[in-house]
Amino acid sequence: MSLIKDGKYSPVDSGVIGELTEIMGSENVSFDPDKIRVYSRDEVGGQFWESDYLAEVVVFPRNTEQVSALMRLASRKVIAVTPRGAGTGLSGGAVPAFGGIVVSFEKMNRILECDPVNLTATVEPGVITAEICRAAMPYGLQYAGDPCSGDASFIGGNVAENAGGNKVIKYGATGANVLGLEVVLPSGEVTWFGGKRRKDVTGLDLVHLVAGSEGILCLITKVIVKLVPLPSCIVDLLVPFSTMEEAISFVPKILTESRIVPASIECMNKNSLKIVSRYIGSSLPFEEAGAHLIIQLEGNDPDSLADDYERLGQACLSSGALEVFVADNRNSRDRLWKARKSVAEAVMAFYTRYAKEDVVVPTSEVPELMREVDRICEHYGLEGVNYGHVGDGNIHVNLLMEEDRPDWKSVIESARMELYSVTARLGGTLSGEHGIGLKRKKYMTIFLDEAQIGLIRRIKKAFDPLGILNPGKIVD
Ligand SMILES: Cc1cc2nc3c(=O)[nH]c(=O)nc-3n(C[C@H](O)[C@H](O)[C@H](O)COP(=O)(O)OP(=O)(O)OC[C@H]3O[C@@H](n4cnc5c(N)ncnc54)[C@H](O)[C@@H]3O)c2cc1C
Repeated sequence: MSLIKDGKYSPVDSGVIGELTEIMGSENVSFDPDKIRVYSRDEVGGQFWESDYLAEVVVFPRNTEQVSALMRLASRKVIAVTPRGAGTGLSGGAVPAFGGIVVSFEKMNRILECDPVNLTATVEPGVITAEICRAAMPYGLQYAGDPCSGDASFIGGNVAENAGGNKVIKYGATGANVLGLEVVLPSGEVTWFGGKRRKDVTGLDLVHLVAGSEGILCLITKVIVKLVPLPSCIVDLLVPFSTMEEAISFVPKILTESRIVPASIECMNKNSLKIVSRYIGSSLPFEEAGAHLIIQLEGNDPDSLADDYERLGQACLSSGALEVFVADNRNSRDRLWKARKSVAEAVMAFYTRYAKEDVVVPTSEVPELMREVDRICEHYGLEGVNYGHVGDGNIHVNLLMEEDRPDWKSVIESARMELYSVTARLGGTLSGEHGIGLKRKKYMTIFLDEAQIGLIRRIKKAFDPLGILNPGKIVD
């Protein structure tokens, strides 16, 4: 599949190379085949693509002016451009589906300002998200939008994916934590959407149109994020239950009966715990339990936090919890979160044949979704490693094939289609945080009608009439 061949996009020829070198400097333009291969991938395994998608050149701009000049060149010549953050994406969003130029933002990695009066940080898109948290700490503040991949992924990639994470239930996903964006439009024009303002109804809310737009509308060159007070005490509860159903059914009671809004409510089924123990070489207690919840509480007064977790712990035990473990120091908390955050990597380390899904349903429907996932696994002879953000209904369903069957692709595809059909019936949707990208594009029509897909296409065209920015993603 090549639109270059079909004549839609121009190739990166020697004239383009000369201009790119002039814009960026030769040290920021790479044709090294090894680099091109690495920068043409994200975390979706290559076995899922029908073609070997490769960039023709990778560039590393250092500032907005260079990005703008690059886009003016790409528009003039009609060259495909794919923005790239850290490449931790799970939907092929940063894969250059039509070759052309990959723009890596790794050299635009400065924290420009922490502003403790407006409670904001202004950063470049290539800043590793966890670094924003570290920079805010001396001010007694935190950036609360960081996803589980926050130690590796970039803030620009997080905004482009509207990344979620484990604190969505209290603080919202990335978009809810972004106030302003400097962007370069495909034409090369530079503009700001939003700013250091908490309120803004002047024009349309373009900040939140761009959040989650997966790099198909514009390139993000600066981000103003919201900072919030850093709590002085944090406690994590690890709560094993005999069954996933019991664990999930308890979740709504945390908010209604205990009247507590935790920072996180995460779950891991038995298979998740097993695979992660094998991967990290240590296990959490009650490994044989059907499911574990991790509930994070935060506050500033240790006594009232202790009251909260004791009350919540009692409620857990009355609802069938096998035990309640309290992690109230850095070591025990790190150990617990290491296990939770390593499940995705463990799946990719041990399996090559799988569907790695990111469906989200209304929280009331999570128990039914999990029952259906068990049924699908049994029917197709697959292992279900299911875990994730149960507090907001976003479950990472991994349908894994143990044996290397020749028909693995079709079996997994049938299982995936059943999962999608169940998800749609339950009022859910295709992706909660990993995005559509290249990987899920063909399934969009299961969840969105033609009116909505047509509107997305027209919005894309309004931003990018030539179709040069991240072509092949979300919609054609
Ligand atoms: C182990 C693991 C755990 C993860 N946990 C989570 C999680 O908890 N929550 C979650 O939401 N995701 C998670 N992810 C997925 C991934 O980390 C997120 O999608 C993340 O936001 C991607 O950021 P990135 O910098 O790696 O972007 P990339 O993968 O490089 O790119 C992602 C998309 O953003 C676009 N893009 C990147 N930078 C820009 C820019 N400056 N301007 C315009 N477009 C841009 C790209 O074109 C692409 O479409 C996880 C992934 C892994 C491997």
